[in-house]
Amino acid sequence: MNIIFLGPPGAGKGTQAQRICAALNIPQISTGDMLRRAIQEQTPTGLKAKSFMDAGGLVPDDVIIDIVKDRLQADDCKNGYILDGFPRTVPQAEALEKIAEIDRVIELDVADEALIKRISGRRVCLKCGATYHVSLLNGKTTCDNCGETLIQRDDDKAETVLNRLKSYHSKTEPLVNFYQGRGKLVKIDGAGDMDTIFDAIMKALA
Ligand code: ADP
Ligand code: ADP
Ligand code: ZN
Repeated sequence: MNIIFLGPPGAGKGTQAQRICAALNIPQISTGDMLRRAIQEQTPTGLKAKSFMDAGGLVPDDVIIDIVKDRLQADDCKNGYILDGFPRTVPQAEALEKIAEIDRVIELDVADEALIKRISGRRVCLKCGATYHVSLLNGKTTCDNCGETLIQRDDDKAETVLNRLKSYHSKTEPLVNFYQGRGKLVKIDGAGDMDTIFDAIMKALA
């Protein structure tokens, strides 16, 4: 099954995508993770993307569409995948329609105030993409999966978060109607606890 996770920054897309991918044995394709890796490795894509990400804006459509096109050709995508953080604009969604058949779009719905709390406490592992929240780490500073030191993303600092929420509402939220019109959207309340949300998503995909 080819699945899209749609939702504002901090909605829990990465958290749930990791769990659902493990349950369904399909890859998680996170454009944010791919861009952060590209920046770390100082690839040409990373160099192009960095200033947009630092400012809390979106990376240009042509850059991101090329990355996703490439990734979807890999062998591990044959049995399905979760797109986590792509598409984020109508032109990206239109480009995707030309290269893939999407079965279901899961929208995770969370109010802005809760998002700010989640994002400000987020800690991530740049090596494996795992996501944590300081309130649940009990002082731990390394990744449970791979042992890497956890970091706070530069764009998770307060100055940038409001810009990212603005980008979401103006550029990404129109995709809710886009996919509703195609009969593919399932809206999930993303405000509850992680296990309840996981169950609701699994049900929506059954
Ligand atoms: P979050 O998990 O908080 O929603 P991501 O890790 O998905 O954030 O993305 C981080 C940043 O990477 C975004 O703010 C944006 O600058 C860039 N980015 C990721 N995916 C896309 C995309 N599909 N289109 C444009 N920019 C993107
Ligand atoms: P996204 O990928 O949509 O930006 P993440 O999955 O990275 O969101 O989650 C953002 C932050 O919120 C992380 O610190 C994560 O641990 C936390 N989080 C995720 N889901 C929940 C939830 N259901 N309740 C409380 N906190 C959550
Ligand atoms: Zn890790």
